Amino acid sequence: MGADYYSYLIVGCEVDEEKLKVPKRVRNCKCKVDNIESAEYCSKCGAAAWNDGYDPVEGMNEDEDKFLDFDIVHNTDYKNCWLAIRKKEVGDSEGVFDAVKLEVPDDLSDLRKEMKDKLGPLGLWDEKKFGVWAIQYVSY
Ligand SMILES: [Zn+2]
Repeated sequence: MGADYYSYLIVGCEVDEEKLKVPKRVRNCKCKVDNIESAEYCSKCGAAAWNDGYDPVEGMNEDEDKFLDFDIVHNTDYKNCWLAIRKKEVGDSEGVFDAVKLEVPDDLSDLRKEMKDKLGPLGLWDEKKFGVWAIQYVSY
């Protein structure tokens, strides 16, 4: 047990993590019960009939933590995340921290345009949330 600390330096765009999920109801218990669709509780075991669940939006690759071509960097509280077009991890779970350099082009406008073109039509682009970010993520 313990906490692992990860820091990232990225060029990317912050997005609301909820926008990468499609909410759905999932059955809580496995009992076979009639009329469970409209039930609040299971008439057989008494448990809540439904839980909140979600499906990933199209374009999401949860196994690789990618959305479209972009790396996903999470916030510790998972309320927002960043889609990164360039990413560098700073330090690692072994507690080794060295200075790192994130390679970026002289002009970020091409990266900005690429992200805007892909995220804009999906309602995920926010001009004010694009930039160079330093993010710390703690895994408990
Ligand atoms: Zn049940």
